[in-house]
Amino acid sequence: MIFTPEKCRIPDKRMTPFIDPDEIWDLINNTKSTLRRVREIIAKSLDKQRLTLEETAVLINTVDPELIEEIKEGARELKKKVYGNRIVLFAPLYVGNKCINNCQYCGFRTSNSEAVRKTLSDSELISEVEALEDTGQKRLILVYGEHPHYSPEYIAHTVKIVYNVKKGQGEIRRVNINAAPLEIEGFRIIKDAGIGTYQIFQETYHPDAYKKYHLGGVKRNYEYRLTALDRAQEAGIDDVGIGALFGLYDWRFEVLGLVRHANHLEAVYNVGPHTISFPRIQAASMGDLDKSYIVKDDEFVRLVAILRLAVPYTGMILTARETPEIRKEVIRFGVSQIDGGTKLELGSYHDDNTLIAQDLNKEQFFINDSRTLDKIIDELLDNDFLPSFCTSCYRRGRTGEHFMEFSVPGFIKRFCSPNAILTLAEYLEDYAPPSVKEKGYKVIAHNIEELALNSNIEDLKERLEKIKLGQRDLYL
Ligand code: SAM
Ligand code: SF4
Repeated sequence: MIFTPEKCRIPDKRMTPFIDPDEIWDLINNTKSTLRRVREIIAKSLDKQRLTLEETAVLINTVDPELIEEIKEGARELKKKVYGNRIVLFAPLYVGNKCINNCQYCGFRTSNSEAVRKTLSDSELISEVEALEDTGQKRLILVYGEHPHYSPEYIAHTVKIVYNVKKGQGEIRRVNINAAPLEIEGFRIIKDAGIGTYQIFQETYHPDAYKKYHLGGVKRNYEYRLTALDRAQEAGIDDVGIGALFGLYDWRFEVLGLVRHANHLEAVYNVGPHTISFPRIQAASMGDLDKSYIVKDDEFVRLVAILRLAVPYTGMILTARETPEIRKEVIRFGVSQIDGGTKLELGSYHDDNTLIAQDLNKEQFFINDSRTLDKIIDELLDNDFLPSFCTSCYRRGRTGEHFMEFSVPGFIKRFCSPNAILTLAEYLEDYAPPSVKEKGYKVIAHNIEELALNSNIEDLKERLEKIKLGQRDLYL
């Protein structure tokens, strides 16, 4: 059965599964890519309209190298013109790795007897957050295995602990969550703790492939996971993050699955996902996976560019799973958030004795970019990006900010760029090594010059001076 809203105009029902594998395969197998269509579709996206599944399939089926370059160029232009040069920084913080599920790709799976299990105590959690604050982090994503120990009440408890840790000038201003799907009541408990985004990856949108990789535990239930973010929405969490783990099934199918999911949330709840993640599978303890769906680097770059064009309103997250080289390249095609200074071993941010080398029995998977936050920021500045720790929209109750970035004229110049500059200045004052500080202020000066061409920057300049004098958390 084909039931895309674009085709039959019947809106999606709440919490009903919305992926039809036959429909997606039909689109992959039967959609033709022509020069005219590809250019029309890129233009539509640059006109700030999200793409239909069929239009996304046209981009997916484009194999002509010159047209692929046009798609990448379109994504680059969309990012530059619409999002500007900001890159938001965050760090993951693993709270506990006990898990009742048996996901074949994950080092935390229950059948992995080699895994060293750990849940941070409250005082260890505080030490981890202090260590992260000492490097300048302001935004964290807390990560948990799926286990009765990690109940909604427990997750809420850890979120509150994190918000209360203040070391020096440091504080965490936004706590996002990556944890198991919950019931509506559970999501309400977490929402009340003041979280930012609740992120759940579907892993693979293909139901049969999903069954193959998920051999036990609650996560085996494809539909319960697929509808998790509907339950989050019902509980009032309208900042949700979706994702697919690339390498489990055909990447083209996953891209269409993600777009379908985004369109579903927008059609039903009037707000699309806040972020899309597109992790590629990495080595994990004792993992022995079928390699037939491994996504090659050139395919990865393509899929990121296609996603950028398909969902222009959605933030895109690129993580330290990828090498510095790939990150540097892919970031230009529409990424809006990256992690920096990432460590996956539980307790390793504060305990210098951990993590001499990555130990896969203690970590979920291998990461390829373990550079410090300083180094990451240094490279972003070299490439003329504006590193940002901004949490302003969330704290002012402006949810759906990506939508506003597009739809409210002047929103980026009025809020996003000034707030990025202010949070970067805080970082430069409090944490940056001298060379990064110098570079950072040059980038700030150059961004202010550009803003001054057609906006009033008095508020910004005044706040910037106050930050230099020691005031903090000044945002617009
Ligand atoms: N346990 C929760 C869950 O499964 O949703 C929370 C997060 S899990 C610790 C975070 C994500 O890591 C998973 O959703 C999966 O996509 C990703 N992941 C697991 N194993 C991976 C691997 N070997 N390589 C890359 N990413 C992996
Ligand atoms: Fe557990 Fe999540 Fe790992 Fe699956 S991916 S084994 S649910 S921690």
